[in-house]
Amino acid sequence: EDAHGFLELRGVTKRYGALAAVDGVDFTVDRGEVIGIGGPNGAGKTTFFDLISGLTRTTEGTIRFRDQDITGLAPHRLCRLGMARTFQLNSGFDNMTVFENLLAARAFGRRSAGGWLLTARADKQATQVLLDEIGLADIASDPVAGIPILARKKLMIATALIGEPDILLLDEPVGGLTPPEIDELIDLMLGLKSRGMTLVFIEHVMRFLTAVADRAVMMHQGRIIYDGTPGGLANDKTVAEVYLGSA
Ligand code: ATP
Repeated sequence: EDAHGFLELRGVTKRYGALAAVDGVDFTVDRGEVIGIGGPNGAGKTTFFDLISGLTRTTEGTIRFRDQDITGLAPHRLCRLGMARTFQLNSGFDNMTVFENLLAARAFGRRSAGGWLLTARADKQATQVLLDEIGLADIASDPVAGIPILARKKLMIATALIGEPDILLLDEPVGGLTPPEIDELIDLMLGLKSRGMTLVFIEHVMRFLTAVADRAVMMHQGRIIYDGTPGGLANDKTVAEVYLGSA
């Protein structure tokens, strides 16, 4: 398996009637890269994620993941290939505990098969290990309905990680968090990064993006208008124009 072009989009387009929400995008992710995607509301970022993760079908173009054509593959198939994503809105089973949520996600998203008796114990163990790692162990038996927003965000990330993915797509992981909470998620992300996880995230919070990502991608009107270092964003004319509304 090639580390270069781990995930590869060629000419990917999604049209809704006359609108191209994603418009002929070429995009390559190498294994181990950490990429932050920004851009104004309506730029096409969520649609871009939906296309990669199989939630919506491409109108045109091809998507390859680990040397396979995955264009049109269903999300559960992609999950088995090692792709996981989170969503902007907090999701989860509210009346179940944090532990139960994660265990359920493990049962659905586990990539290795095995006898039920064998996996039941292993699943519980893996769940506990991840809860410890991500800092949710002390609220493991709380119902999700009552936990704070930071814990919810962490739970969403844990839910994506529990299937042991090789690439993780995060949609606005720190939206709605306070600065100290953002710092905590920065640390969490840097931890994942140091373990070699391939990360692609959408985030408006520039401080988070520049602290975590090695590569920044800016979208506007369905296209990629910047693909480079996070540090270079501030001096980029096209990006400045988009944010000043004169593009
Ligand atoms: P935000 O930052 O607000 O989440 P975004 O960059 O994620 O924005 P998208 O949600 O991908 O942008 O939307 C891109 C464009 O596609 C928008 O103009 C949106 O109205 C349109 N769009 C998205 N989904 C649909 C749909 N199911 N039907 C019609 N138009 C859609």
